[in-house]
Amino acid sequence: MKRFFLSLGVVIVLLIGVLIFNAMRFTPQEPAPSADITLIQPDDELLAKQLAEALTFKTVSYENGNPDNYASFTAFQEWLAATYPLVFEKAELVRLNTHTLLFRLKGQDAALKPVLFSAHYDVVPVNPGTERTWTYPPFGGVIKNGEVWGRGALDDKNSVITLMAAATHLLEENIATQRDIYIALTHDEEIGSTDGAIAVTQWFKDKMITPAWSLDEGSYVLDGIVPGIDKGIASINLSEKGYLTLTLTAEGEGGHSSMPPQDTAVTILAAALMKLHDAPLPGGLEGISEKMYSDIARHMDFTKRLLFANMWLFKPLLNSAVGSSTSGNAMLRTTTAPTMLSGSVKSNVLPATATATINFRLHPRDSVESVTEWVREAINDDRVTVEAGEFTEPSPVASSSNEGFLQMVQTTRAVYPDAIITPGLTIAATDSRFYSEITDSYRFAPMVLRSEDLGSIHGTNEKISAANLVKAVQFYTALMAQQ
Ligand SMILES: [Zn+2]
Repeated sequence: MKRFFLSLGVVIVLLIGVLIFNAMRFTPQEPAPSADITLIQPDDELLAKQLAEALTFKTVSYENGNPDNYASFTAFQEWLAATYPLVFEKAELVRLNTHTLLFRLKGQDAALKPVLFSAHYDVVPVNPGTERTWTYPPFGGVIKNGEVWGRGALDDKNSVITLMAAATHLLEENIATQRDIYIALTHDEEIGSTDGAIAVTQWFKDKMITPAWSLDEGSYVLDGIVPGIDKGIASINLSEKGYLTLTLTAEGEGGHSSMPPQDTAVTILAAALMKLHDAPLPGGLEGISEKMYSDIARHMDFTKRLLFANMWLFKPLLNSAVGSSTSGNAMLRTTTAPTMLSGSVKSNVLPATATATINFRLHPRDSVESVTEWVREAINDDRVTVEAGEFTEPSPVASSSNEGFLQMVQTTRAVYPDAIITPGLTIAATDSRFYSEITDSYRFAPMVLRSEDLGSIHGTNEKISAANLVKAVQFYTALMAQQ
């Protein structure tokens, strides 16, 4: 017995030793900066002025069509041509569905695959009634204390003007690239991309051109958003979640409510909803989310490093810790969100049917089919039918080892020397879900997003600093010059 305790003690000491040893070695893994990348010094005031002007055009995507019949979109394109004349003069321009612009800056080696940069210049409407709560008018193009205010400052005219400024720089300096560089400026990203990114993707398919990669919005250098990290997190996202709406319909006996049966359509539906509530889709730290959380944890305090460095032992604990926050949960799994309910139209009438609408955001580990099947099995009740509505599959996961991704990492390192650079997953939908049909698609805008900016995207008081525009032009110019 004594010997047993002795050897148990030895095992425990060894185990603790291994845990600590792993934690000690669990340090940041960022590659050394590349000496080949030189950064230009663009004029911050000029960039701020260009963005401020761009924000005055009401290129608003309304769900039910555009009331000015796209006059503001045409005016915006004319402004682009006047502001970036060299790009319009020297690049080939294809117009798709009148308002999406696809530029081609020709490279020297036609045998190489081109690359595709993309941004959208449509914006979401300002919520009715909130216009007055903006500190400066959303379409005023105001610059105050080095910040440019207005709808589209972060989503996504910031990318539009910095891409155009970068292309202008390449042309001014006669910087010859080997590959063709395409720049797509799309006009309907906020309402489904039908005439924009889908048309761009189709154009490449028709011409049988396969880009080496694409780069579009979908993430930033996140500052102050992850607790316990005082550095920016440059999350270059490899995929985006899919979307699925399911309608559950429960059947029951209709009639007067004075003598109700034990189970009505409403109680059957309610039971089904509770079963779904108790059966979240499986998920956990794996693939992109495991890599992302590990990369970030390397910069955390010793206790957290101890846990993440010993995932083989602590993964269940970490899964529940990460999954306990709404944002963490969304990274780990397909989320389940009941959004709409309906039953009887009168208070004293039993409904013959009751329906619930559930919105799922699909993690790349799942598919529309697998989630629908999961829901049917979780409910397991013949009285409830499950019907699929709108959906998009999650995007394929882009490679984190190809040359383009490594160039993006190195260029980010040059522009943001202190940032933590990691692959990540975009929770929302972007144009890239279509580009990913033809190439490895990356989602990253090389600009800092602070926690206080989060609510301004599609919200109130959207703004960006001129310093951010400078960083973005430095990034895009350097990345383009490497092609
Ligand atoms: Zn956007």
